[in-house]
This record gives sequence, C-alpha cells and structure tokens, in this order.
Amino acid sequence: MKPPRKLHIKSYGCQMNVYDAQRMVDTLAGVGFVETANADEADLVILNTCHIREKASEKVYSELGRLRVAREEAARNGRDMRIAVAGCVAQAEGDEIIRRAPVVDVVVGPQSYHHLPELLARAERGGKAIETEFPAEDKFTFLPQPKSDAIRGRGISAFVTVQEGCDKFCTFCVVPYTRGAEVSRPVEKIVEDVKRLAENGVREITLIGQNVNAYHGAGPDGRAWPLGKLLHRLAAIPDVARLRYSTSHPRDVEGSLIEAHRDLPALMPFVHLPVQSGSDRILSAMNRKHTVRDYRDVIDRFRHARQDIAFSSDFIVGFPGETEQDFSATLALVTQIGYAAAYSFKYSPRPGTPAADMRETVTTADMDERLARLQELIDSQQSAFNKATIGTTVDVLFERAARNSGQIVGRTAYLQPAHVMASTGLIGQVLPVRIDSLERYSLIGELAPVPPSQSRPISSSPPTIGA
Ligand code: SAM
Ligand code: SF4
Repeated sequence: MKPPRKLHIKSYGCQMNVYDAQRMVDTLAGVGFVETANADEADLVILNTCHIREKASEKVYSELGRLRVAREEAARNGRDMRIAVAGCVAQAEGDEIIRRAPVVDVVVGPQSYHHLPELLARAERGGKAIETEFPAEDKFTFLPQPKSDAIRGRGISAFVTVQEGCDKFCTFCVVPYTRGAEVSRPVEKIVEDVKRLAENGVREITLIGQNVNAYHGAGPDGRAWPLGKLLHRLAAIPDVARLRYSTSHPRDVEGSLIEAHRDLPALMPFVHLPVQSGSDRILSAMNRKHTVRDYRDVIDRFRHARQDIAFSSDFIVGFPGETEQDFSATLALVTQIGYAAAYSFKYSPRPGTPAADMRETVTTADMDERLARLQELIDSQQSAFNKATIGTTVDVLFERAARNSGQIVGRTAYLQPAHVMASTGLIGQVLPVRIDSLERYSLIGELAPVPPSQSRPISSSPPTIGA
C-alpha cells in the first residue's frame, strides 16, 4: 500500500476560507492525502488566500518566497513538493500569480476546489494547472462528506456554508468579483450537513455566507426559505445546542430572522452587523444601500425581539472623501449603539472596484489617527461589556483544554472566551459559570452549581451597555 501523501493548508481571511480549507482536506483525503501542520514536510501545500485588503493579498507572495526555499530543500532530499494557490487571490489574479511566482503549480478559484484532484494530477504530469472559471455545476454537489473522525477532530463548533457570493456591489469590495453572484444552498442539503455534524459531536453551528441573511434557499415545499425559517428548522435537530450566523447585511434583515431571535433559545443573541460608516454621505458613496437611520432601526428591531442581544460590526476608516465630520459621525454611531466587539480597517483600494477610481483624499497619517481613535472607543466598549460579567453567572459551551493545566476553555453566548478549572470530560457541554475576574479579553470563573431538577436555558442574560 502506498503511504499517504501529506497536505498542508494555510488559510487567510474570513470564516468561509476556514470552511473551504476543511472541504479541500475532505476532497483530497479521497485521493490519499492526510493533513500535516508542518509545511516543510508536505507533498502539497495550499495557500487559501484572501483578497479583501492589499495587505492580505501581499502576504501570499511573501509566503510563496518562503515555500520556494522549502521546495528546493525537499528536492535536495529527493522529494517533490507541489504548491497550489486557492481562494480569492487565485480568483482575482489567475495566471498572473504564476508569472510573479513560477514556483506555483496550481491556481484554483473558490468555486472550483472540488476539481483539485484532477488539477493536481495535471500538474504532476508536468506543467501548470489554472482554474478560475465559475463552473456551471455547483461545487457542493461534488464535495465529499467529511468522515466521522475528521468531524470529531475539528472540535465541537463547526461552520456550514449556506450562502455564497454577493450581489450588493459595495464600491470598496472585491467579494462580488471573487466569489461571484449570490447563491443559496437548498434547505435539505444544509439539514443533512448539520445532522451529520451533530451526530458526530458538534454542538455549535455557525451558518456562514458573504451575505448570509440574503439566504433564500429552496425549501422542501418548493418555496424559497429565508434565513429565519432555516434557523427554525435547524433548531429542531437534536443535540444542536447553539446556532449562530455571519455575516449579515443590515438591508436584508427580514421578519423571520427577528422572530427567530425572539423564539429560538438556541440562536445566540449576538449579531455581527457591519455598518462601515456612521455618515450617510459615505454610506452612499460606498453604495451600502442603507442609511444610518435604517441601521439604527434594524438594531432596535433586534433589541425589541430579544433584550439580551448584543452586536458587533465592521468599520472602514479613510474611505475616499471621508471628512473629519464624517468620521465624527462614525464615532457618534458607535457611542449610540454600544458594541460588544467590532473590527475596524483602514480603507484599502482594490483593483477593479469602483472606489479604486475615486480620488483618495485621506492621508495615511489621518487614517492611522482615525483608526486609533475608533479602536480606542471600541476597546473601551468591549472592556465595559466584559467587565459587566464579573459577579454574574453565564452559560459557557466548553470547547477544549486550556493552555494552563487543569483549565478548560469555552465561549459565552457573546463569544467571550471563559476559563475554569474543570475536567476535559465537560467539553461539549453548556454549563453555568460564575465569573470572578478578567484576564485581557478572557473571563475567568468557576462552575456554578446546577440544581439537578433545573434544566439550564442555553443562554443567560448579558451585561447590557450603551442601549
Ligand atoms: N458582507 C459583509 C458586509 O456586508 O459588511 C462584509 C464582508 S468583508 C469580507 C469583511 C469586511 O472587510 C467588511 O465588512 C469591510 O469592513 C472590510 N473591507 C472590505 N473591503 C475593504 C477594503 N477595500 N478596505 C478596507 N476594508 C475592507
Ligand atoms: Fe462586500 Fe459585504 Fe458589500 Fe457584499 S455586502 S459587496 S460582501 S461588503
């Protein structure tokens, strides 16, 4: 029997790349590959790339420089190492990657990675293999199901892609070009995936999509189901303790999603709802298709349905034309909403997007200064949110052993890491934890007693701030 070949995948960027990387591992397992954490000993290295900002794209080329040396070393030891570039840089740059980095054997876009075995075989016959078309067939039909061992090895929390691509065309964003048009997977396929995950020990499912609440997959009744209805269906699957979804667009929040937050204890009361800017002028230049008022109304609808709900968001600073006044409006919006966490980025012009043709008006120094101010505000809100848990009891889904011996770590409903001294036998359970202190972003506590007759709700009341 031939020994298995070794595969190393390095993923950059979003949750969907993490999910895609796992599906590539499952696909290549079918042709004899096993995963290794060490790129230097791999027979195949895949860089699963992100094109969202320039920095993310450029990382790929520095990594390819390092891999060229590793490949030469492997060749000196009589071993072949193949190198593939997958993901959104592959989609955006195609054969330009091979021109800049001839060490690359395979370039494969995010809609074609089910073809990896044949692309690799083509590269092994000599030459390069490039596939960046959007194939007519749906890759999900061809991707093999992960084996039970693979699911168990990946832990108690899993991503499931339900929607891919985007039709929104925000002027700064490459996603509609790299991931293509919006497509939703059928309800029954998602139900099958989630059942299989739950049967193999997964307790928390995060539904992912570039624009996840634009979901409109075909239901078993032949109608298009919105995300809220899908969540209701998934909440009925035994052993699914927690459901989440990401990333939502403020414009696509419809009634069934709000109802799902009202009615489903398994749906975590923590919503990532990017707004990007607090200025209507900038939102319009970004083609976000919503105003600040619309955004605040959506937040109010969520809060009305579930009082313990908390939010995170994404912000871009220094978009072309952003004045100090526009930026102050962003700070004002953050102050009004009160976030539990948020990501903020300096605007990065991306080739091929409409904003790349706009005149950049914000100097690098101003962008740095605005980003620092925004991050300081967000950090203070996040600290206040975390501090408010001290002395309270919160439900934690335990995920793994912590680095400190004897401790295990899990997450609260709001994704805060929580550490307690307890047995690893509790991994996979949702248990109440009394929070005693904070260590940077982690909560430290101890298991709280559960009266034997009392069943715990999945989530507990959060600290509320800024409401
Ligand atoms: N679909 C989500 C939405 O509607 O907000 C976001 C998807 S994008 C992968 C994640 C985040 O990257 C965006 O919310 C935005 O803040 C940031 N981003 C996207 N393009 C960017 C750019 N050109 N420069 C800086 N940040 C960018
Ligand atoms: Fe990009 Fe999100 Fe806008 Fe779509 S909605 S173009 S993914 S930022």
